[in-house]
Amino acid sequence: MIDFLIIGGGVAGLSAAARLSTLGSVTVLEREDALAYHASGRSAALFEEHYGKPSTVALNRASLDFHRSADVLSPRGLMLIGSAAEADLFAADVQAMRMTEITMDEALALIPVLNPDHVDRAAYDPGAWDIDTDRLIQTFAKTARGNGAQIVTKAEVTGISRTAQGWAVSTKGGEFEARQLVNAAGAWVDVIAAMAGVAPLGFQPLRRSMARIPAPDGHDVRAWPMVFGAGEGWYAKPDAGALIVSPAEEDPTDPHDAYADDMVLAEGLARYEANVTTPVTRLLASWAGLRTFAPDRTLVLGPDPAHPGFIWCAGQGGYGMQSSPGASQLLADLISGNTPAISPDMVAALAPDRLR
Ligand SMILES: Cc1cc2nc3c(=O)[nH]c(=O)nc-3n(C[C@H](O)[C@H](O)[C@H](O)COP(=O)(O)OP(=O)(O)OC[C@H]3O[C@@H](n4cnc5c(N)ncnc54)[C@H](O)[C@@H]3O)c2cc1C
Repeated sequence: MIDFLIIGGGVAGLSAAARLSTLGSVTVLEREDALAYHASGRSAALFEEHYGKPSTVALNRASLDFHRSADVLSPRGLMLIGSAAEADLFAADVQAMRMTEITMDEALALIPVLNPDHVDRAAYDPGAWDIDTDRLIQTFAKTARGNGAQIVTKAEVTGISRTAQGWAVSTKGGEFEARQLVNAAGAWVDVIAAMAGVAPLGFQPLRRSMARIPAPDGHDVRAWPMVFGAGEGWYAKPDAGALIVSPAEEDPTDPHDAYADDMVLAEGLARYEANVTTPVTRLLASWAGLRTFAPDRTLVLGPDPAHPGFIWCAGQGGYGMQSSPGASQLLADLISGNTPAISPDMVAALAPDRLR
C-alpha cells in the first residue's frame, strides 16, 4: 500500500512527488512514454513574479528561493509595448505587473526592430527570468527518486475505486493501491475526479499556440527581453537564437494532445508584425499546449472537502512552471500540518472548498 499515488507526470505531479516523498511512499503514474509531454513541455518558460491573481503571485514569491537554489533561472527582462489605441490596456498591464514606463529610445535600444510608427509607449521589468524547464522537471524527478519514489510511464489511469483504506487504481501499466490520491492530471483533472466519484470543479483547458521564427533580419536576439503586446494580445521571446511568438489565444477546448491552429497563428503573427519593422518570412516550428484554469483562474491545492483522501493539485493555468515550488510546498504543508509559507487568506483562496 502506497501512501501517495500521484496521477500526472508534468511539473505539477513531479513537484508534488518531490515534496510528498519526504512524508511517505510515492508513486507517480503518467500516461505518456515520457514525462512533461503535454503543457509542461510546451511553455514559454518565463518567471514573472507579478503575473497572475494575488494567490498565484504569493506562490510565485514563495517559489523564488527554490528556483534560485536549483539554478534554473537566467536573466531575461520583460517589456510591454502599446500603441495610442491600446492606451487603456497598456495602463492596466503596467499597474497589474508593476512595470516601469520607459521612453521609446530606451525600448528601441533593447529591441531595435520595434516599429515606432505603431508602438508609442513601452514599459519594462528587469525582474523577469527564463526558467530552464527541463532542468526544473529533472530536479523534481531526481529528488523524488532519491527519496524512494517510483515514476511509472505508459501507465494511463483507466479506473479508480474506493477501498477500506483508500483507493484502488487500474492503469494500462498495472494495478495500484494507495491511502491518498493526488490529482495532478493537468487538462484531465476533472476527468480523473469523475473517474474517482469526486464531483468535478469546472476546470477549462484553454489552447495557446506558439510559432518559432528565425531571428528578425539576422539580429542577435539572445539578450532581448520578452515582449508582450498590451492586453496580452501576443508575445515574443528569444529562444536559443530564434524567436518564439504566440498569439496568446485562450480558446476553450476539451482535454487532448493540442496542436496549433493555423488561422489563429497567422492572425497572431500579423499582430506581432504590426509592432515590428521586420516581416515574418518563414516558420521553423509550431505547437500548442493547454493552459487549464479553475473558474476563478486560481490554482486549486489541497484535499477535497467531501473526500479528504483525494487531493487536488490543479488549475496551474499559465503559471505552472513558475509557481511549482511554492504550490508543491503548500500541498506538503497542508498534508503534514506544517504552517504554510504563504498567508492564511492566500491558502483559503487556493483551497478546493471555495469552488463547492
Ligand atoms: C503555450 C504555453 C505557454 C506557457 N508559458 C508559461 C510560462 O511562461 N511560465 C509558466 O510558469 N507557465 C507557463 N505555462 C503554463 C504551464 O506550462 C502549465 O501551467 C504547466 O505545465 C501545467 O503542468 P501540469 O503538470 O498541471 O500539466 P501537464 O504538463 O499537462 O501534465 C499533466 C499530465 O497528466 C497526465 N495524465 C492525464 N490524464 C492521465 C491519466 N488518465 N493517466 C495518467 N496520466 C494522465 C498527462 O499525460 C500529462 O502528462 C504555459 C503553457 C502553455 C501551453
